[in-house]
Amino acid sequence: MKQAAILAVVVWLLAVDVLAGEPQLVLSLEPVEVSQGGILQIKAWGKDIAEARAIFPDRDLPLVRGRDGVFSAFWGVDLEQRPRVLDFAVEVRNGKEEKWAKRLTAYVKAKEFSTETFSVSKEFEPPDRETLKRIEKEQAVLERLWKIHSANRLWEGAFAAPVPGAISSQFGFRRVINGLARAPHTGVDLRAALGAEVFAVNSGRVVLKDDFFFGGKSLVLDHGGGLYTMYFHLSEFRAEKNAQVRKGEVIGLAGMTGRVTGPHLHWGARLNGARIDPMELLILETGIRQ
Ligand SMILES: [Zn+2]
Repeated sequence: MKQAAILAVVVWLLAVDVLAGEPQLVLSLEPVEVSQGGILQIKAWGKDIAEARAIFPDRDLPLVRGRDGVFSAFWGVDLEQRPRVLDFAVEVRNGKEEKWAKRLTAYVKAKEFSTETFSVSKEFEPPDRETLKRIEKEQAVLERLWKIHSANRLWEGAFAAPVPGAISSQFGFRRVINGLARAPHTGVDLRAALGAEVFAVNSGRVVLKDDFFFGGKSLVLDHGGGLYTMYFHLSEFRAEKNAQVRKGEVIGLAGMTGRVTGPHLHWGARLNGARIDPMELLILETGIRQ
């Protein structure tokens, strides 16, 4: 634990760079090696910065100024993103329209997710045609959501867990049944009794409130800046569609709707469309795992 903390500091110091001609400007990248399902934090601070953005090959990501004056952006690395070098630039402008750009490099590294291999003599009945159509439609509804990037960041400060329960099924967990690898688990399952309150992990807007085949009663919050969190298998909703909710507000009650065998909360997150481990959100601002 101590070693990991020291390593994080060293990596952070290596990433800090001072731009020529602008000695007050500091950039940081954390972590430099980001795991599949992880979050890359890009920060810039210094005197006279009016605007900052990260320029990736396929998109620009604005850095948002926080209350502390630090500009930041968060980049999600998908669960199945192949390990690769991630080259990008950070461009800053001052109030006089002068700009500086600096190239940065991060690395996506593979993470070992747990797997379970077993055989069953009789598989579940495959869904019928009508159900398959419904599943496809519901997946399309979600995919469309991830493509909308509300510019304004609605969340602020540390994220809080949606329920106090421990993890019962890890992010990225994969079952291999009768030799066939199933889709990986794209969220975490948290222990929650039937009817337990489910809290908004940070401020956001309810952009989906629906009853889905797999997710059951499902709710999605848009936190802005390309970040979404989702809450599945609820027994009841406690927030209306389009409502603005604050961190810690009750948005629903845990349950076992959809394709589940018992009550729990499936908590998922998307960042820039990438399927990220929602537990990573809990260590974002404070650096302390809650
Ligand atoms: Zn789950």
